[in-house]
This record gives sequence, C-alpha cells and structure tokens, in this order.
Amino acid sequence: MNDNNTQTQLELERITTVCALNRFSVTAGLDTTQTQRKQQLETKLHRVEAALHRLAQGCYGLCLECGSPITPERLAVIPYTELCYGCQRRLEKTILNPYVV
Ligand SMILES: [Zn+2]
Repeated sequence: MNDNNTQTQLELERITTVCALNRFSVTAGLDTTQTQRKQQLETKLHRVEAALHRLAQGCYGLCLECGSPITPERLAVIPYTELCYGCQRRLEKTILNPYVV
C-alpha cells in the first residue's frame, strides 16, 4: 500500500472525526445516545492518531498483538486497525465469552 495514500486517508478520518466531535462539544447536557456516540468518536480519534503515529514510525500495518502484517484488504476497510483478522477474532471471542479462550 502507498504510504502517502494511507496518510491522506488517515488525516481525512482524523479531520472528520474531530469535526464530528466538535458538534458535541457545543451541546450541554447530552443524552445517553449522544454520550455513547461521543465516546465512540473519541475512541476512534485515539485509534486514528495512534495509526498516524505508527505510520510515522514505520511500523504501520503490523498487528500489535502478534506482529504479523495486516492484510491490505483489511487496512483498506479500517485504515486505523491495530490487529490482524485472527487476533481481532480472538479478542472478540474473549470479550463475548471471557471464560472460553
Ligand atoms: Zn495478530
């Protein structure tokens, strides 16, 4: 994957997320749905910024769990993903079934 394209894509994700978050910051007294949405956006922003940081360090596209390269198809869908498909699946199973690992 072309690093410049990836950076542009991540910067765009960052800007749109920041703009979406700004809409919440002017509203006092958010309801539960709005609070959840705001938290989702904040989490996404952190992930996007972390991905930009990894890109700058030259370790973008490697799974944080097992170190394997994340497939380009997966990065194309979620450019800020931290995990390869296998680790993501394992993590989701652990969260859904904490006693079955
Ligand atoms: Zn992995």
